[in-house]
Amino acid sequence: MNRNAIIAAVVIALAVVGGIYAYQNFGSSPSVTEDSACSSDGCDWTGGTTLRVGGGGYPAKCPKCGNSTVLRGTKCRGCGTIQIHNILLKAQYEDKKDLPDRMNCKNCKAPLPWGS
Ligand SMILES: [Zn+2]
Ligand SMILES: [Zn+2]
Repeated sequence: MNRNAIIAAVVIALAVVGGIYAYQNFGSSPSVTEDSACSSDGCDWTGGTTLRVGGGGYPAKCPKCGNSTVLRGTKCRGCGTIQIHNILLKAQYEDKKDLPDRMNCKNCKAPLPWGS
Protein backbone atom coordinates (compact mmCIF):
# COMPACT_ATOMS: atom_id res chain seq x y z
CA MET A 1 0.00 0.00 0.00
CA ASN A 2 1.48 3.34 -0.96
CA ARG A 3 1.26 6.55 0.98
CA ASN A 4 -1.59 8.04 -1.07
CA ALA A 5 -3.72 4.97 -0.55
CA ILE A 6 -3.22 5.17 3.21
CA ILE A 7 -4.18 8.87 3.25
CA ALA A 8 -7.26 8.12 1.16
CA ALA A 9 -8.27 5.34 3.56
CA VAL A 10 -7.87 7.65 6.57
CA VAL A 11 -9.93 10.38 4.90
CA ILE A 12 -12.71 7.91 4.09
CA ALA A 13 -12.68 6.55 7.64
CA LEU A 14 -12.93 10.07 9.10
CA ALA A 15 -15.80 10.89 6.76
CA VAL A 16 -17.69 7.76 7.84
CA VAL A 17 -17.13 8.47 11.55
CA GLY A 18 -18.16 12.10 11.07
CA GLY A 19 -21.29 11.03 9.26
CA ILE A 20 -22.28 8.62 12.02
CA TYR A 21 -21.63 11.28 14.64
CA ALA A 22 -23.76 13.85 12.81
CA TYR A 23 -26.52 11.29 12.29
CA GLN A 24 -26.63 10.35 15.98
CA ASN A 25 -26.80 13.99 17.02
CA PHE A 26 -29.64 14.54 14.60
CA GLY A 27 -31.48 11.39 15.72
CA SER A 28 -31.44 12.39 19.39
CA SER A 29 -32.15 16.09 18.94
CA PRO A 30 -31.86 17.65 22.39
CA SER A 31 -35.41 18.59 23.22
CA VAL A 32 -37.91 17.47 25.80
CA THR A 33 -41.68 17.77 26.07
CA GLU A 34 -43.01 18.71 29.48
CA ASP A 35 -46.47 18.96 30.97
CA SER A 36 -47.26 22.65 31.14
CA ALA A 37 -50.10 25.06 31.71
CA CYS A 38 -50.97 28.66 30.93
CA SER A 39 -50.93 31.09 33.85
CA SER A 40 -52.95 33.85 32.16
CA ASP A 41 -56.07 34.84 34.03
CA GLY A 42 -59.04 33.29 32.29
CA CYS A 43 -57.00 30.93 30.14
CA ASP A 44 -57.15 27.24 31.01
CA TRP A 45 -54.76 25.83 28.43
CA THR A 46 -52.74 22.78 29.44
CA GLY A 47 -50.62 20.52 27.31
CA GLY A 48 -47.14 19.55 26.31
CA THR A 49 -44.50 22.17 25.64
CA THR A 50 -41.38 21.18 23.70
CA LEU A 51 -38.26 22.75 25.13
CA ARG A 52 -34.64 22.67 24.12
CA VAL A 53 -32.59 20.87 26.73
CA GLY A 54 -30.47 23.33 28.66
CA GLY A 55 -32.02 26.29 26.85
CA GLY A 56 -34.84 27.05 29.24
CA GLY A 57 -37.90 28.10 27.29
CA TYR A 58 -40.30 29.22 30.03
CA PRO A 59 -42.42 31.17 30.03
CA ALA A 60 -43.49 29.77 26.67
CA LYS A 61 -46.09 31.17 24.31
CA CYS A 62 -49.61 29.86 24.90
CA PRO A 63 -51.23 28.35 21.80
CA LYS A 64 -54.67 29.37 23.09
CA CYS A 65 -54.39 32.95 24.33
CA GLY A 66 -51.12 33.89 22.64
CA ASN A 67 -49.49 35.30 25.78
CA SER A 68 -46.04 34.20 26.89
CA THR A 69 -47.43 32.84 30.12
CA VAL A 70 -47.02 29.07 29.84
CA LEU A 71 -45.16 27.59 32.79
CA ARG A 72 -44.16 24.08 33.78
CA GLY A 73 -47.14 22.13 35.01
CA THR A 74 -47.52 19.72 37.88
CA LYS A 75 -49.68 16.71 37.16
CA CYS A 76 -52.07 15.57 39.87
CA ARG A 77 -51.38 11.98 40.85
CA GLY A 78 -55.03 11.46 41.62
CA CYS A 79 -56.81 12.68 38.51
CA GLY A 80 -54.08 13.72 36.06
CA THR A 81 -55.07 17.37 35.89
CA ILE A 82 -52.12 19.59 34.96
CA GLN A 83 -51.83 22.83 36.87
CA ILE A 84 -49.13 25.31 37.80
CA HIS A 85 -47.90 24.94 41.34
CA ASN A 86 -48.15 27.94 43.66
CA ILE A 87 -44.41 27.82 44.31
CA LEU A 88 -43.75 28.35 40.62
CA LEU A 89 -46.36 31.12 40.38
CA LYS A 90 -44.80 32.90 43.33
CA ALA A 91 -41.39 32.73 41.71
CA GLN A 92 -42.76 34.09 38.45
CA TYR A 93 -45.17 36.80 39.57
CA GLU A 94 -44.55 39.58 42.07
CA ASP A 95 -48.29 39.91 42.84
CA LYS A 96 -48.75 36.22 43.71
CA LYS A 97 -46.25 36.18 46.57
CA ASP A 98 -49.02 35.60 49.12
CA LEU A 99 -50.05 32.22 47.72
CA PRO A 100 -49.53 29.32 50.13
CA ASP A 101 -46.75 26.83 49.33
CA ARG A 102 -49.08 23.94 50.01
CA MET A 103 -51.88 23.50 47.52
CA ASN A 104 -54.48 21.01 46.50
CA CYS A 105 -55.58 19.89 43.05
CA LYS A 106 -58.22 22.27 41.75
CA ASN A 107 -60.15 19.33 40.35
CA CYS A 108 -60.08 16.47 42.89
CA LYS A 109 -58.70 18.43 45.90
CA ALA A 110 -55.92 15.92 46.49
CA PRO A 111 -52.67 17.42 47.85
CA LEU A 112 -50.42 18.55 45.02
CA PRO A 113 -46.81 18.02 46.06
CA TRP A 114 -44.14 20.29 44.63
CA GLY A 115 -41.36 18.73 42.62
CA SER A 116 -43.15 15.54 41.66
ZN1 LIG B 1 -53.18 30.92 27.62
ZN1 LIG C 1 -56.57 15.93 40.98
